[in-house]
Amino acid sequence: MNKELAIQKYNEKIKRVIITEEEIKQAIKKAGEEIDASYDGRPILLISILNGAYVFLSDLSRAITVPSEIAFMRVKSYYQGTESSGKVTVLMDVDRDLSNYHVIVVEDIVDTGRTLKDVCALLKERNPLSLKVVALLDKPDRRIVDFNADKVLFTIPDFFVIGYGLDCDEYYRNLPYIAEYDSSK
Ligand code: 5GP
Repeated sequence: MNKELAIQKYNEKIKRVIITEEEIKQAIKKAGEEIDASYDGRPILLISILNGAYVFLSDLSRAITVPSEIAFMRVKSYYQGTESSGKVTVLMDVDRDLSNYHVIVVEDIVDTGRTLKDVCALLKERNPLSLKVVALLDKPDRRIVDFNADKVLFTIPDFFVIGYGLDCDEYYRNLPYIAEYDSSK
C-alpha cells in the first residue's frame, strides 16, 4: 500500500468527533478547580493508569495549582468468560508509600468497571489517607460490575472511542479530541 492510501485509510476510521479539544479543555479546568478547592493543603498523589490516561493526567495535573505529586501504574486484568472480577496483575507499580497520600486515580474511561474496581481494591489495601477516582469518560451502558468513579468529565453512549490517549491497536492516542472509531471500514 502506498503512503497516501495508508494515511487515507487511517483517517477514514475517525468516524466523527464526539468531544472537541475545547470541551475537554474546559472540563479539565473545572475538574482542576474542584480538586484545588477540596484538597488544598493536603498531600495529593495523582496515579495515572497507563497507557490510556497519560494525556488526561498531563492536562489534569497542570490544571491543579495546589501541591501535588504524580505516579504511574500499569496493570493487566484477567477474566474468564463472564466473570465479573478477575486478578489484577501489576505490570508497573507506584513507587510511593500510599499511607502518606490522598490518592486520586486518574483513568481514561470506565467501561465494564472491572479494571478500576480491582485496582481500587488493591490500592485500598495500602491504606491511603483517602482514595478517589477521576475518569475522563464513562460508558455506563457497558457496566458489568458495581463501580462508579467519584468524578466523571463526560458520559458517553456505547461507542468505541479513540483519541486523547485512547487507542485502537496503539494508534490514534495523539488525536487532540475524542472521536468515534469506525470499525466498518
Ligand atoms: P474496563 O475494565 O472498565 O472494562 O476497561 C477499562 C479499559 O478498557 C480502559 O482503561 C480502556 O483502556 C479500555 N477501553 C474501554 N472502552 C474503550 C473505548 O471505547 N476505547 C478505547 N480505546 N479503550 C477502551
